[in-house]
Amino acid sequence: YFVTPAQLGDNEVILSGDDAHHAVRVMRMEPGDEIIVSDGEARAAKAVIRAAAPDRVEADIAAWLPMDGEPLWAVTIAQSLPKGDKMELVIQKGTEIGAAAFLPFQSERMIVQYDNKKEAKRLERWSKIAKEAAEQAHRSRIPTVEPVKTWRQLIAAAAAYDLVLFCYEKEGGSGGAGLRDAVRDYRSREGSHVEQLRLLLIVGPEGGFTEREAAEAENAGAVVVGLGKRILRTETAAMVGLACLMYESGE
Ligand code: SAM
Repeated sequence: YFVTPAQLGDNEVILSGDDAHHAVRVMRMEPGDEIIVSDGEARAAKAVIRAAAPDRVEADIAAWLPMDGEPLWAVTIAQSLPKGDKMELVIQKGTEIGAAAFLPFQSERMIVQYDNKKEAKRLERWSKIAKEAAEQAHRSRIPTVEPVKTWRQLIAAAAAYDLVLFCYEKEGGSGGAGLRDAVRDYRSREGSHVEQLRLLLIVGPEGGFTEREAAEAENAGAVVVGLGKRILRTETAAMVGLACLMYESGE
């Protein structure tokens, strides 16, 4: 479970709200059962439940654990808003595979009508999905989910990354070779000492990117990459790109 630093003391941890409910009502945990907790920042521990109520679980710290659930490379998935609940799928599966953050954005050929009145609620739901997936995957941190950006804001944000990969089906290529080569080129330019990379993986909507968007991304420093001969659905493309990057990172 992810708890706030204040809930994780030197000797005990307290679960409240949804987490206490999950432990007691869903997992049917009782005194004597073990839980794994993390404050998402610096500390993780194994703890033994001392008192279990649906609104509050108290547990004694049994051992401190290393914070080693995180990949070496921090990959942010910039996903053009897909329709239905596909963004939820991208966040859930992307968190399991190892994404550091999610950055939904709007683009020209996006199919969904973006309604920013629902923004706060949607962000809350997406963040909850990231938290639950991070717990299930034994991550040390919960990936962040950013508020939906415009295309312009995305291009401006791209400058903060070591390498920006723009997934474009018209680029063809074989499998993840484009991604792999882009990362290898970057590392051979910057030196093999570059271990920790901040990568931005940009994936288009169901309708694909326009040529203008591809050109603008390239002008902003992105490397245009293909994921192979087959056209992947938008949510598949994000997962394939992320998995290829995790593989190339050696983790
Ligand atoms: N119409 C399908 C759908 O409903 O999802 C496929 C859409 S595909 C155009 C969506 C996005 O996935 C593209 O904008 C691109 O970013 C990425 N993508 C899909 N296949 C790709 C490939 N072979 N190479 C690179 N990117 C790809």
